[in-house]
Amino acid sequence: MFIGEEANKQLLVEKLIQKFIRENIARNIDVHLEVYWSSSESTANKHSSLYYVPGCDVNIDGILSRYCTPYDHHMTHEKEVWAIEDALKKLKSHRVDIAYILLWKVDEIGHLYGPNSAQVRDAVLEVDTHINDILDIIEDNQQNDVNVIIVSDHGMSTIDTLHKINISEALDMNDILEITEEGTQAYVWPKSGKEEEVYNKLKKFHPNMKVYHRDDILDRWFFKKHTRIPPIFITVDKGWYLAHPKSSDEVFKWYGNHGYDNNNQDMKGIFAAYGPDFKSNKTVAGFRMTDVYQLICKVTGIKPKPNNGTWSNVEHLLNDADLKDEL
Ligand SMILES: [Zn+2]
Repeated sequence: MFIGEEANKQLLVEKLIQKFIRENIARNIDVHLEVYWSSSESTANKHSSLYYVPGCDVNIDGILSRYCTPYDHHMTHEKEVWAIEDALKKLKSHRVDIAYILLWKVDEIGHLYGPNSAQVRDAVLEVDTHINDILDIIEDNQQNDVNVIIVSDHGMSTIDTLHKINISEALDMNDILEITEEGTQAYVWPKSGKEEEVYNKLKKFHPNMKVYHRDDILDRWFFKKHTRIPPIFITVDKGWYLAHPKSSDEVFKWYGNHGYDNNNQDMKGIFAAYGPDFKSNKTVAGFRMTDVYQLICKVTGIKPKPNNGTWSNVEHLLNDADLKDEL
């Protein structure tokens, strides 16, 4: 690979993340999305410091994180070390109660080279070393009262570059108000009166594609009731890539993606935790991403907002069984 080619790939990812911040997170102001930093800032007077989290500077219902170090595409280990040292200082002096640090390298390399690539293996080893350094810093600071949660928000599947579904042929864009997302899913808003026609064309278009009316979206995705969910939702089988008239063909240069059905083993993330509130040396059965929010709320003393988590899935991770009474 030429150096220029590598730089182009990096630029592509940076452009896409900026687009994600602009078009997704920044729009949340109108839908009152509950995110962890708005929970902590709005309830029980807890404060947060976020490092490199895309959109952490977004005002949600008038609430901002107390500290936000914006997303930085030119991440280095030195910056991560600075973030953990800064977080520990702020925790110690009670300026904040929670700190979040995003380590996004494995995700980026996974998209660019595929999850089974040598590059991903190297990135995982590198991040693993960095996490070890972070834990050493916490230990050196003797902050024994800090709970640490290490969690990935998704897994990743290899995209088969021959498995592309382009729904452009099935769509008359005169019937479409808006179509968004791409790759693993598409959100379709047909014009008034066109919903059934658009649905029927899409439904029989490709055997590796599943098309849902909003009401038929699977309950286990905890997805269909939100105002942003479109009248027609499309997802594709693992390893397939979905394109449409408004999608950017650049993304098809990816070799890995997430957003397929979460029943696929590839989509599972990781979870590890340690600290005074957590049991040690315990391996537990898998639980869902929707359960993590209330766990974070619990160890930081925040009353969770309504959510789709199931407390019994995670309460056994904690040392103090009485903690659950506070929920
Ligand atoms: Zn990603």
